[in-house]
Formats: sequence, structure tokens, C-alpha cells
Amino acid sequence: MHELSIADQIVSMVELEAKEAHAVKVSSVTIDVSVLMEVEEDNLQFCLNTLKKEYSLTAETIFIYREVPVEFECLSCGEKVIISDLTAPVCQECGSSSLDIRGGDSIYIAEMEVEIDESRSTEKCDAGE
Ligand SMILES: [Zn+2]
Repeated sequence: MHELSIADQIVSMVELEAKEAHAVKVSSVTIDVSVLMEVEEDNLQFCLNTLKKEYSLTAETIFIYREVPVEFECLSCGEKVIISDLTAPVCQECGSSSLDIRGGDSIYIAEMEVEIDESRSTEKCDAGE
């Protein structure tokens, strides 16, 4: 189940970034997932919704899943191409199959919506025991 380890990384990264931003709550997180990761959306959502409860700031976070295509650079003509059919990727400009991956090959946190409590933003001692 690699969805579980992916979810674990996402949630702990979100929690960390939210803390650094002095957020009191993370409302939503948009995750860009490459088609190459072969992630099952339902499975990932299930893992995220289970793991988020272990953290204080993400307990009510809504995770928005976006599947992103892979971006290539053609080594023949230098064109940047987005290819959805990965079974036989060729450059749309010149038809070459010499392509290099340039992006969309991983998982990224695209957007994060947080709530910041101004009145408590100075110093927080509620470690939640
Ligand atoms: Zn080309």
C-alpha cells in the first residue's frame, strides 16, 4: 500500500508548514498527483482522512485530489509537450520519441488554505497534552 506512505508524508508536511505559518487550522489542501505515481484516488483519500486525525491542525482538512499529466521536453526540437497517453509518447510537434521528463512526475502540495488566529498568533503554549 504505497498510498499510506504517501498520505503520511503529505499530512506531516502540511502540519509542519501550517505550524510554521502559525495557522490554527488547515481548511483545505490541494494535492497534484502525477499519473505516473499510479495512485488510487479513493485509497489515498481514505489514508489521508485516517491519518489527518492524528494531527491537531489537519483534523478537519479537506483534501482535494488533482491528477496531473506528465510534462516532457523533446530532445529533437526542444518543444515542451504534455502527454496523456504514456504507452507510446511522441512529440506532437515533430513526432520524435526522444523525450525527457521535465515535470508532473511526482506528488506536490499545490495549494494550502489555512486559518490564522490573530489573537493567538504571538506565542502558543497549548501543546495539547
Ligand atoms: Zn519534437
